[in-house]
Amino acid sequence: MILFKSDREKFEDEIAKAINDRNKGNLEGAVNHYLKAYEIASRTTDPDVRKRSGEALFYALFYDALIKKTPEAFSKAAEACGKLESTHQLDIGIAVKPAAGDLARDLEIASMIFSLPKFDVDAVGSMDQSVASLYEKVGNRLLMEGSRRLIIEDILGIHEELNTIGLRLIGYSKVIEAFRLEADNPGRAVELYSEALSYLQQATPEVRNYVNSKLAKLAKATKCWVCHREIQGEDVNYLYLPASINTYILEKYGAEASHLISEGRIAVCRVCYTMVYNLSDALARKYYDMAIAMIREVEARLEARIRSLESKIIRLESKIPITFTK
Ligand SMILES: [Zn+2]
Repeated sequence: MILFKSDREKFEDEIAKAINDRNKGNLEGAVNHYLKAYEIASRTTDPDVRKRSGEALFYALFYDALIKKTPEAFSKAAEACGKLESTHQLDIGIAVKPAAGDLARDLEIASMIFSLPKFDVDAVGSMDQSVASLYEKVGNRLLMEGSRRLIIEDILGIHEELNTIGLRLIGYSKVIEAFRLEADNPGRAVELYSEALSYLQQATPEVRNYVNSKLAKLAKATKCWVCHREIQGEDVNYLYLPASINTYILEKYGAEASHLISEGRIAVCRVCYTMVYNLSDALARKYYDMAIAMIREVEARLEARIRSLESKIIRLESKIPITFTK
């Protein structure tokens, strides 16, 4: 007896296998079976099966996105989800069956969140305006979502309220902008860091400490010990150099400007510092070149002497008679 399976049976088989794999945590298997179901539904003449092709494709792309966790994969899943009837309920293995329209929106948000570079205080200097703009754009988008959480929060491990994430992202964008203005416009950088701090209430202590220490240093103003110009922004527009400071100097000049002398070091503006640095660099290079030239000269003289001694030895050897012993 030969049994022919109808397209509907084959389709249902693949869907059942897919759900079984998914329930066992085998997402790759689930993706494969949903794709097979999609192929069957795409080429069948059975209209009831055919109309389920979009749903099968969505599930395949959804679990593929959970495996890959890339913005592109989430974006594809969001697109496929958006093509389904918006009130259609989807079984993605969580307690509530979300409507396709709602899930499509969350997948789009997931795509945005996964497109963001990780914010790291040590990498702020290497982040440019485009990264700041990206954080700001996604941050504003999440603010619009209010205090709700993602439908797939447990699946993605993102449990915060969306506006909380949004505020933090806007804070990050302000930190990057502030960093880039530190040298040229320390006053504006201080403003931006202060604004950032109010957005970063839910950020890690590390990020908040970073901004606080930036604010403390940037807001500090003093005079340059060398040129006496007023200058704002420690570590950006001025820095401290060690110098011999005795009680006399400290008492006579220490109060000339706040922060002028700190722990046996004097404040020097970046112009004076780079001038001294470049000059000493040039001097050091000059003496280094002179020393190397002298070493080369001595080397050349020694080599000439060695060569002349070698040729003398060869001449002497040729004069010594060779004796054979038996
Ligand atoms: Zn100076």
